Amino acid sequence: MLNIDALTAFCQAAGARIETDVPFSCLTTFKIGGPCAALITVPDAETCQKVFGYLRENQIPHDVIGRGSNLLVPDSGYAGAAIRLGGTLAEEIREAEGIITCGAGVSLKNLCLFALDHCLTGLEFAYGIPGSVGGAVYMNAGAYDGEISQVLLSVNVLDEDGAIRMIQAEELDLRYRHSIFMEQNWIVLSASFCLEFGNQDEIRAKMQDLLGRRKAKQPLEFPSAGSTFKRPAGNYASKLIDECGLRGYAVGGAQVSEKHAGFVINRGGATFADVMAVCDHVRETVKAQTGYVLELEPEILRAEE
Ligand SMILES: Cc1cc2nc3c(=O)[nH]c(=O)nc-3n(C[C@H](O)[C@H](O)[C@H](O)COP(=O)(O)OP(=O)(O)OC[C@H]3O[C@@H](n4cnc5c(N)ncnc54)[C@H](O)[C@@H]3O)c2cc1C
Repeated sequence: MLNIDALTAFCQAAGARIETDVPFSCLTTFKIGGPCAALITVPDAETCQKVFGYLRENQIPHDVIGRGSNLLVPDSGYAGAAIRLGGTLAEEIREAEGIITCGAGVSLKNLCLFALDHCLTGLEFAYGIPGSVGGAVYMNAGAYDGEISQVLLSVNVLDEDGAIRMIQAEELDLRYRHSIFMEQNWIVLSASFCLEFGNQDEIRAKMQDLLGRRKAKQPLEFPSAGSTFKRPAGNYASKLIDECGLRGYAVGGAQVSEKHAGFVINRGGATFADVMAVCDHVRETVKAQTGYVLELEPEILRAEE
């Protein structure tokens, strides 16, 4: 049960910022979603640990969010507490002997630019993927034959008992858009990446090339959560959707992008219900016509009491 006054008093004493009823449409790249009952921004690992402990003890539904680039939130909103990593967790990046360690709230973009500055290669694939390092580890984000699992060395997590511990990448069950975090209520606090020294001009050229390819192919002018469906084994979701004649299919403000059939976009005023209606129709049609079962890629945030 969420007692907002008690939670506010606790957060203020602990040094965390709390905001109430912030619309998720302002916190997600899809620009969809009702109010977040409590949005708590923690400035460091210790405060995160305290806030997490309080939420658990008081049985307040909670979830950690990154930059909302892979999140879908119902129009009714989220009746729990969303934890966001701020302060040093969103700023600190350091390098030693080819290993970059950063807070999980750091943006992937800043991580990639830091690697470029230090002439380190291996993260070019991630340049252009929106979101935070924590979200990228959670999703094992990837593009253009690269994915987080190829460069991740270890993470520091806050586990379900409120303890901070280091876990090696091999133990995270990183597979295509999957990690152990999907089954565990853990918060990634920081991550270390093992990279190779390379030629700075070549690293920069590769980053710019991949970003250019994104701009050419993806409907970046519309809000979305990127690819709406995971790649089914042996095929591509966008190809199947296109072959089923669903390019441009729309319900309310949600539409299968005309530019890239793998993206459902918010062409203006889309609700969660619109997006779900488009996705359901796409899944049913693709299954009926091709036999492939498409799985949603974005995470749906719901507060389970
Ligand atoms: C235009 C566009 C293009 C995209 N292109 C790609 C692409 O090429 N490849 C790709 O893989 N993805 C892509 N995405 C999807 C998205 O950017 C990635 O999945 C990204 O890694 C999500 O990070 P986030 O910080 O925004 O996470 P959020 O969307 O905020 O959260 C996603 C999930 O991660 C969890 N999470 C977030 N932070 C933490 C943490 N610190 N600890 C534990 N769990 C956490 C959340 O609870 C949630 O379940 C794209 C999205 C857009 C909008």
